[in-house]
Amino acid sequence: MTTTVKSWAPGRVNLIGEHTDYNGGFVLPMAIHLGVQTTVTIRDDRMLVMKSVQVPDQRVIVDLDDLVPGCVDGWAAYVAGAVWALPIELTHGFEIEIDGDVPLGAGLSSSAAVECSVLVAMVEAVGLEIAPREIARLAKKCENEFVGVPTGSMDQVASMLGRDEHVLLFDTLEDSIRPVPFEIQHAGYELLVIDTRASHALIDGGYASRRATCELAAQTLGVATLREVTDMELALSTLSQRTNDPNVVSRARHVLTENVRVLATAKALTQRRFEEVGMLMVSSHESLRDDFEVSCPELDCAVEVALETGATGARMTGGGFGGSAIALVPMQLTATVTAAVCDQFVENGWLSPRCFVAIPSRGARLVVSH
Ligand code: ADP
Ligand code: MG
Repeated sequence: MTTTVKSWAPGRVNLIGEHTDYNGGFVLPMAIHLGVQTTVTIRDDRMLVMKSVQVPDQRVIVDLDDLVPGCVDGWAAYVAGAVWALPIELTHGFEIEIDGDVPLGAGLSSSAAVECSVLVAMVEAVGLEIAPREIARLAKKCENEFVGVPTGSMDQVASMLGRDEHVLLFDTLEDSIRPVPFEIQHAGYELLVIDTRASHALIDGGYASRRATCELAAQTLGVATLREVTDMELALSTLSQRTNDPNVVSRARHVLTENVRVLATAKALTQRRFEEVGMLMVSSHESLRDDFEVSCPELDCAVEVALETGATGARMTGGGFGGSAIALVPMQLTATVTAAVCDQFVENGWLSPRCFVAIPSRGARLVVSH
């Protein structure tokens, strides 16, 4: 039994493939260089004592016998839920401290970084051997069943399985994951993340209603998920005939066209055709803005200004209604694009966005084990 364990797990940026994961579709995320470190120490009682450097002066304590969904809320639910998701009964308590630099709630999946980081440390601390893909499943279970957020599995897969200089082509239906080279720096590009710091009230209801509409579209077409659609044009005209709700058609159109864009992006990256990747990012943004209607003025502004000032491509990333945009930028223009976006936000009377260059990084790892 190990007494102190440290681990680290990253946040992620989804290059393309938005709102496809819960439709059995394709996504193309990468783990980034920002993440969450966890330190786990054994206690000799049955208490789970949780701390976060980002939430000073708060210790959240749960008795292992009371560890059920709902026993704790707020940030500590992500930590407690990760422990709850372990496939064994714990015989004693733990002190768990997290410390992260992924911006919270910015669409960069700080939540998956917490879950995966805590799980990697805990799995080691209790002497289990669990494959990274399976740890990602436990982290998703934590988020869905303990925290109560009905997300797909992309975030946790990216955090656990990310690779240096790669994005992951994740087929959520087949559950297959293929690393695709994302060697942008050699080609003179950078991936700029623009955290708009906007968070619109629609987030929860908006996500649930988009999910429900996609399910309705699949049901109307007689398929289990939209991924099973083989003829896009036929499916969309069938949907228009069978429903009076134009949203059902447009939401489905986003998902169906986005799946095509993900595969095209993976192919273009393999052939180092970055201009084409940029165009696919722009189409993805337009589809999310016009068909899926999950963008917002701040995201649209970030994308527009980035493109106007030299970005090769730009789009919102994450669930939408706020959070972050990404831009593929020729390296020598990163400072110009950043300044222009910040200026426009100030001019619009919005909070100044936080911009940084994301480095495609490897996934979760054990840092210290003794
Ligand atoms: P995202 O995953 O896009 O960052 P979420 O709303 O899914 O946004 O998750 C953010 C939540 O995760 C925070 O509100 C907080 O509860 C928790 N969290 C993430 N990182 C930390 C941290 N370092 N310390 C405490 N809580 C954290
Ligand atoms: Mg999250």
